[in-house]
Amino acid sequence: MIGVTENLAKISDLLAFAAVQAGRKPEDVLLLAVSKKQPLSKILAAHQAGLRNFGENFVQEGLEKIDQTRSLDLVWHFIGHLQNNKTRVVAENFDWVHTIDKLKTAQRLNNQRPVELGPLNICLQINIDGEASKSGIAPAQLPELAAACAELPNLALRGLMCLPATHSDFDAQREPFAKINELAQSLRSRGIETDTLSMGMSGDYRAAIFEGATIVRIGTALFGERT
Ligand SMILES: *Cc1c(COP(=O)(O)O)cnc(C)c1O
Repeated sequence: MIGVTENLAKISDLLAFAAVQAGRKPEDVLLLAVSKKQPLSKILAAHQAGLRNFGENFVQEGLEKIDQTRSLDLVWHFIGHLQNNKTRVVAENFDWVHTIDKLKTAQRLNNQRPVELGPLNICLQINIDGEASKSGIAPAQLPELAAACAELPNLALRGLMCLPATHSDFDAQREPFAKINELAQSLRSRGIETDTLSMGMSGDYRAAIFEGATIVRIGTALFGERT
């Protein structure tokens, strides 16, 4: 089996190195372990190696893993496309949703979030390259959606998320992440404070860290190829 522990040591070093190079503190970048299509055994190995935050894209698969790890105090992030008919189980079982791109979805999560769990953390997904194949709002829609979400008492608007087009060139990778960072700044000037930029994956985390990512979502580099 792929050595999750060895991969984690390697990727943690690379993340910390990138943070230092970017003039940032390594502890300000959270490694979110993207465990979609990975077996429970690898999640348990990653937890053993010290990880607590896990990301899933598919509701049913995520719920099964959450149920199987109740005793471990893990933090679960939903990072896939969320359909309205699945919001209730997500509100009841996950700690974060990174992919909000409709007020309707946010309102449903707000209404369905059990109060005793505390606010559900959310990020707004920006379709930063305007790709037809991807979810997310256009940057121009952000101020209105952010203002509306900030009013919902059972949600905590934490920040922005993106999934840019793939580039192999470092400078080209940085561009969309820089735009996301600027969008967060522009929200601040409107009185909406956020603390999270969820951006960067196995292939582009370094560029994301240079542009201020606070959560990098790493799957393959940690767990190996998905099954
Ligand atoms: C699958 C996925 C990831 C992880 O991708 P890797 O390239 O395997 O690191 C990150 N974010 C989202 C939204 C994903 O769907």
